[in-house]
Amino acid sequence: MLLQGARSAGLSSTQAQTLLALSAADHPLKAGQLAEEFGSSAATISEVLNALERKTLIERRHGREDRRQVYVSLTEQGRKLASRLVGWDGLMERAVGELPVGDREVLFRSVVHLLASLERNDLIHARACPTCVHFTADASAAPDHGHFCALTQRKLTDLEMRLDCPDFAMRS
Ligand code: SF4
Repeated sequence: MLLQGARSAGLSSTQAQTLLALSAADHPLKAGQLAEEFGSSAATISEVLNALERKTLIERRHGREDRRQVYVSLTEQGRKLASRLVGWDGLMERAVGELPVGDREVLFRSVVHLLASLERNDLIHARACPTCVHFTADASAAPDHGHFCALTQRKLTDLEMRLDCPDFAMRS
């Protein structure tokens, strides 16, 4: 859905995700933070920012204290577009919410494992439980309270596994 929303707005998915990250942060972000967020090189994120700047969706400013730092923020136009993209995300949530509970569980479980697999191959940064150093998977794969998070000392069902967890630490 987000991809469709991005396409209809003439953006690549990385450009759309950059707008969403800036919108979620609600304050200017350093270009380096965005590169880290998406697991991209400085050159790649710079291309994405160049494209968004040409579309007048973002602006870049040098830091006051450290002129070498570049801070990125949304323009008014970028803010409006980001809130439309958030709307597309909401549509996705609603569409998933309309699935029968059993299908939702299977979908969620599959998505978490798919993202974890991509993360293991360093293709994305999903910060998902299965690749976290604090996570122990239940070998029996019981659907209820099988896994364990050593950081929070909590048992986790498949459906309680986290994506984009702020406490995530990549397992080596
Ligand atoms: S710290 Fe977060 S990502 Fe890691 S196991 Fe615990 S809940 Fe999952």
